[in-house]
Amino acid sequence: MNEKALAALAEKLGCGVCENEPLSAHTTFRTGGPCTCMIMPKSAEDLSQLIKFAAENGVRTLVMGKGSNMLCADEGFDGAVLLIGSDFSEITMLDDCTIRAQAGAAMSRLCRVALDNGLRGLEFAYGIPGTVGGGIYMNAGAYGGEMKDVLVSVTAMDRNGELHTYTPAQLELTYRRSRFSHTDEIIVSGDFKLAHGDKAEIEAKMNELMARRKDKQPLEYPNAGSTFKRPEGQFAGKLIQDCSLRGATVGGAQVSEKHCGFVINKGGATSADIKELIAHIQKTVYEKTGFHLECEVRIIPYKAD
Ligand SMILES: Cc1cc2nc3c(=O)[nH]c(=O)nc-3n(C[C@H](O)[C@H](O)[C@H](O)COP(=O)(O)OP(=O)(O)OC[C@H]3O[C@@H](n4cnc5c(N)ncnc54)[C@H](O)[C@@H]3O)c2cc1C
Repeated sequence: MNEKALAALAEKLGCGVCENEPLSAHTTFRTGGPCTCMIMPKSAEDLSQLIKFAAENGVRTLVMGKGSNMLCADEGFDGAVLLIGSDFSEITMLDDCTIRAQAGAAMSRLCRVALDNGLRGLEFAYGIPGTVGGGIYMNAGAYGGEMKDVLVSVTAMDRNGELHTYTPAQLELTYRRSRFSHTDEIIVSGDFKLAHGDKAEIEAKMNELMARRKDKQPLEYPNAGSTFKRPEGQFAGKLIQDCSLRGATVGGAQVSEKHCGFVINKGGATSADIKELIAHIQKTVYEKTGFHLECEVRIIPYKAD
């Protein structure tokens, strides 16, 4: 009931609102049932009012970017999804080498803005199919780079609707983790400090890394990137391969034949299939090697635990 009141407030503010929206349309696994409502805030002011209302009225919320690191329950999400996406995606130059991007901006667009301005430092992120907010939350990284290397400040909103600006030290950025992994804050924007470079060289690097992705990753199937974090001194994909799990299947979910570090939706997979396959991989790898594979993908339950 309170979700309806939140949706009504969002409509009054002029935000996009959908009821019973299937999350499968918003996750790269292409799975997940409907949420009670989905709201697309357009500004920090909207977000502040919505968040305060949700907190005061006990509405459960889920912040979502491009859903490229999420496994949502087949039952859906019993609450309101705040989709921080294209409606919240301004990118501006703060000075000749600092870019401010709102949380909903696509990472690939941010990388292209850097390129257009002859700025290097973000080449590693080209091809990560998420938003700036999701990238900061996850301290996304690839090919030897990570968000930590280029972020100089992040503005986020607490559940009272107040904005806070954090320095790099306060962001607690470590391997695929940030302060946001354990706070309830919503990332509003990030400032990225880059270095002047040669446009042709920057573009060549971006294209080279994209080609490597296409060559090595099963991009022809829905997936959520690396399913597991890298265990200390090992590669998850190699451990999975060594345990003879290449091609292992549960329902429509499969360990990619192309890259064992990826669980893919081979066709018609449910989130339950994917979860079961993840558990099977973890159990097998642990029994055979002693390594515990920690899931990198965020598993989102239908109801609060
Ligand atoms: C083909 C493929 C390749 C990938 N390659 C890489 C890679 O090379 N490196 C890498 O690190 N990742 C990779 N990923 C995983 C994923 O793209 C990244 O983790 C990305 O940063 C997630 O962004 P998102 O917007 O999709 O976040 P979502 O999946 O929508 O959300 C992820 C988490 O962030 C939270 N979140 C999102 N936005 C906000 C916000 N504004 N405020 C607060 N919390 C928020 C969500 O609540 C959730 O807990 C890949 C995924 C795919 C499908």
